[in-house]
Amino acid sequence: MRKQIAAANWKMNLNADEAHQLLTKILHTKLALKPGQEIIFAVPFPYISMAVKKCAEHNNVFVAAQNCSDKTSGAYTGETSAIMLQSVGVQYVIIGHSERREYFNETNEVLAKKIDQCLSHGLKPLFCCGEPLSIREEGKEKEFVAEQLKQSLYHLTADQLQQIVIAYEPIWAIGTGKTATTQQAQDMHAFIRQQIELKYGHHIAQTISILYGGSVKAANAKDLFSQPDVDGGLVGGASLNAEEFITIIQSLD
Ligand code: PEP
Repeated sequence: MRKQIAAANWKMNLNADEAHQLLTKILHTKLALKPGQEIIFAVPFPYISMAVKKCAEHNNVFVAAQNCSDKTSGAYTGETSAIMLQSVGVQYVIIGHSERREYFNETNEVLAKKIDQCLSHGLKPLFCCGEPLSIREEGKEKEFVAEQLKQSLYHLTADQLQQIVIAYEPIWAIGTGKTATTQQAQDMHAFIRQQIELKYGHHIAQTISILYGGSVKAANAKDLFSQPDVDGGLVGGASLNAEEFITIIQSLD
């Protein structure tokens, strides 16, 4: 059985009080997670310790960082290493979010190194892939995503790959209010799983959770999550509203 995951990406939002209140409100709700369901909060770095402490009181609720360094340690002012994150109780790290690819020039090669850092230090990468609008309009989205997978993941062993969660996030749907249709999401998820199968075999492909991201909200989560290859969502804007995110969690299949 694959894990079903509702992951919140708070990005660079909320002050400390707001972050504490939002987390408290969500965690004080009776969420009734079924076996195999997980919630992940990808919070800004300053709130990680607070979030780890609060999430540790709940089963299957984890904290993610939104990024980590591709270096192990040393003179890299402003960077945060995987070792540091692991030492404060983080379990997941978002790697390759399109905002990091676009605004911080993160290439598939750098992302492969970040994934290695995570895996070497007991952290699970939540690896984001997805095409820009221009590529979809040319009908080349599958080649584009296949290349992202190949360049950042295919150096991993099968055991390592099983530590990864993939998030398909079409860039044209992130923060735009424009969601992929359930069919577009399912088609790409099935394609990603097929690519993993070609490289790592059927069994492994069936165990990898693939989340959809891109304007997921309470109103569309159930339809998206009901697709056979959609194993939950990576949620930006709607995860900043407790009621919206709780409904999204309750929409996990
Ligand atoms: C994201 O940041 O990963 C995301 C999918 O954002 P939004 O839900 O706001 O589109």
